[in-house]
Amino acid sequence: MNMTERSGNEAVFMGAAEKLVSGCHMTRQDFTELLSGYGDLRITEYLAQEAVRVRRQYYGTKVFTRGLIEFTNYCKNNCHYCGIRGGNRNAVRYRLTREEILECCQEGYKLGFRTFVLQGGEDPFYTDEKMADIVREIKSTFPDCALTLSIGEKSYESYRLLREAGADRYLLRHETADEAHYRLLHPEPMSLSVRKQCLYDLKALGYQVGAGMMVGSPGQTWETLAEDLMFLQKLQPQMVGMGPFIPHHDTCFAGERAGSVELTLYLLSIVRLLLPRVLLPATTALGTMDPRGREKGLAVGANVVMPNLSPIKNRKNYDLYDNKICTGDEAAECRMCLERRVASVGYELVTERGDYLWQET
Ligand code: SAM
Repeated sequence: MNMTERSGNEAVFMGAAEKLVSGCHMTRQDFTELLSGYGDLRITEYLAQEAVRVRRQYYGTKVFTRGLIEFTNYCKNNCHYCGIRGGNRNAVRYRLTREEILECCQEGYKLGFRTFVLQGGEDPFYTDEKMADIVREIKSTFPDCALTLSIGEKSYESYRLLREAGADRYLLRHETADEAHYRLLHPEPMSLSVRKQCLYDLKALGYQVGAGMMVGSPGQTWETLAEDLMFLQKLQPQMVGMGPFIPHHDTCFAGERAGSVELTLYLLSIVRLLLPRVLLPATTALGTMDPRGREKGLAVGANVVMPNLSPIKNRKNYDLYDNKICTGDEAAECRMCLERRVASVGYELVTERGDYLWQET
């Protein structure tokens, strides 16, 4: 997408912004008008200021931290944008053992993490039984911690088994809510309808659910972004993961432009206002595109950071996109670095689980 400024009519996009801020239901036209304000300083500042106000109303100055454990980079899928897609023969593959995963949690617990995120490619090696066993072990060893899974598309039955084993949350970005755009990013047999059904199944099973999309992925347009916002409004997820697309050298999108930091920030403010109590990470991809990207994300409405707890020896191989940051730092260093970054924009990194606020406060 050409991420240049849009030249919408000020009265029109400010009208849409005010509608969003007042909590009204947004139509596709409203979202289109809102996006037409991108690049205008007045609306950008207005949305950011309101997003921060809303974020403070619910979460004060707290920033929640999630210990990310990237436990496998094997993947049976072949998403065109992703460095660990199954078809990439240059990827150096690894899997963590159950014991290694538990060691990561142990170290994270000592550092004050009370949420662990197990993320990986769609790796058939980890059968439902193996995953459920790992989930049960983590939950019984660390009963005061929340456990998030991010292991892709599964059947309702598999999600149920993992929920019963103790998983609390599930991250599954929808990637794009537009059919044609989805097809451009994902080969057969993947489909948007299955992806969406997974998210509805996860919600029905009582998970705290995270959807989201890359910003500036090849083929993305203002219309597909409006569709993403429509979908988020309908789904009402508890978390939204949103970071810039960054090309990976071993994919067919190697020569594409990366997504824009500014547009990601604009969208973070919009999502905070659309879903006021959402748990919204300032992503590693944002930090990769801009050395102060995560701080900027926190300053426009984000309230979560996800430092890496994976063993150093494997970090570089969880290679989703080029130049990914934080691949060489010890978990303790990552945590301290983020603590400083969070404090530099006036917030406080806290150790609590940081669950979704279900009740109005
Ligand atoms: N397999 C799981 C799934 O499909 O949800 C989780 C792992 S997947 C690698 C995690 C996320 O990485 C994806 O949802 C995608 O948005 C993001 N990602 C992959 N390639 C990327 C790229 N080139 N730039 C930015 N983000 C990327």
